[in-house]
Amino acid sequence: MKLARRHASSSAGSQVLLRSRPQPGAAVSVDDFEVAHSSATSDRLQPNELLCQTLMLSVDPFLRCRFNESTGVDYTLPYQIGQPITSAGVGVVLKSGSSVSNVQPGDLVLEPFDSWPWTERCRMPVESVTRIPPALGLLIPPSALLGACGQPGLTALCGIEHHAAPPGPDDVVVVSAAAGAVGSLVGQLAARRGATVIGVCGTDEKAAALARLGFAGAVNYRSPDVGGQLDDLLLRVAGGRRVSLYWDNVGGELSDAIIARMRDSGGITLCGQISMYDTDEEYPPPLPAATAAFAAEHAISRDRYLLLNHKQQFPAALAELCRLVASDELVATETVYDEGGVAGAAASFVSMMAGGNFGKAVVRCAPLPPRAAAVDRVRRAMPAALREQICRRFVTPEQFAGLVG
Ligand code: NAP
Repeated sequence: MKLARRHASSSAGSQVLLRSRPQPGAAVSVDDFEVAHSSATSDRLQPNELLCQTLMLSVDPFLRCRFNESTGVDYTLPYQIGQPITSAGVGVVLKSGSSVSNVQPGDLVLEPFDSWPWTERCRMPVESVTRIPPALGLLIPPSALLGACGQPGLTALCGIEHHAAPPGPDDVVVVSAAAGAVGSLVGQLAARRGATVIGVCGTDEKAAALARLGFAGAVNYRSPDVGGQLDDLLLRVAGGRRVSLYWDNVGGELSDAIIARMRDSGGITLCGQISMYDTDEEYPPPLPAATAAFAAEHAISRDRYLLLNHKQQFPAALAELCRLVASDELVATETVYDEGGVAGAAASFVSMMAGGNFGKAVVRCAPLPPRAAAVDRVRRAMPAALREQICRRFVTPEQFAGLVG
């Protein structure tokens, strides 16, 4: 299938627009996007405006609700037909409308949540982006600011540390969508706290890879008898203990099978329900009657978790995530889609929703500019211990205060 093109040539100024909303019950398809020419130029930049080149875009499941006429949530708005798709993004400043701003041409800038337009060049209000200090590039790659040191990392860390009682060595934690951006980090963070962690994911290859991230075991939910496999794994890696914490990214029948294996007074962190994002179900959907009855009988709690309720923890959490990634204590797995530049973001979103990613899904739209590329090369050559030392010395929660918004 080919993306519709409003203009014949993909000039230097391509952008991706919403062409149509998916039918109720259907997944987003590449036919719902349109590639068009963008006219973003540096003419008459306002003093608060930057002209930026898009370097990387983030594709995230939470964007799925923005394709509907109503998102059903109060923290993000629907995309509009004929308007650019937006997401988190990283870019380089080509021109600034102000000579006194602290953001200058050549600087890398970040929009960490959902308002970077899917255009090759865009005009961004300076207050909507955060300048990435070049020194941070010595410690972590720019793509990690969209992943382990960005919204997915925050989701994992704030959820594990602050949403409910943090897990410890007595806990058996099951994570669904375990090979994804959030899940792979949740599992690593829970394992670092001594918990026995079991992942559930969509392929045998992903399940095998999770073992290298500290998961005690993993199940491919597309294989037959997932319940039986979970039972075997609980026996093998958890001495037959039942699940005490379920980090639910998925919902649906898979979650029912996991909840049925929870112990009394266990807790469900309801992080997401990706198996239901293409349905008209209200979020969060209630548990089916039999599962709800089981949860009530066993005093299992199910609490909706929303990252945005933890904004006060963001600065300290980001500093800690940078330290963990810089020192290689946390593995920032990622899938970089790099076909088609900005226009490729549409197919990348569709692929991520279908499980095409391992770790954070990001779209490379253009190579890093020479200065950032040189900094990245130095980072790769630096021993992790040195990166950690620099991080401890120079990366402070205060530096991330501007991200809280
Ligand atoms: P991700 O896990 O990197 O990507 C989505 C993954 O979901 C896919 O790779 C796929 O992996 C899996 N998946 C898709 N359809 C599925 C289905 N029907 N059943 C089971 N698995 C399915 O995405 P992410 O950004 O880390 O997000 C993970 C979850 O966290 C999402 O539900 C998201 O909405 C939620 N989230 C919540 C918050 C919050 O504040 N509560 C913040 C961020 C994200 P497989 O190969 O394993 O199928």
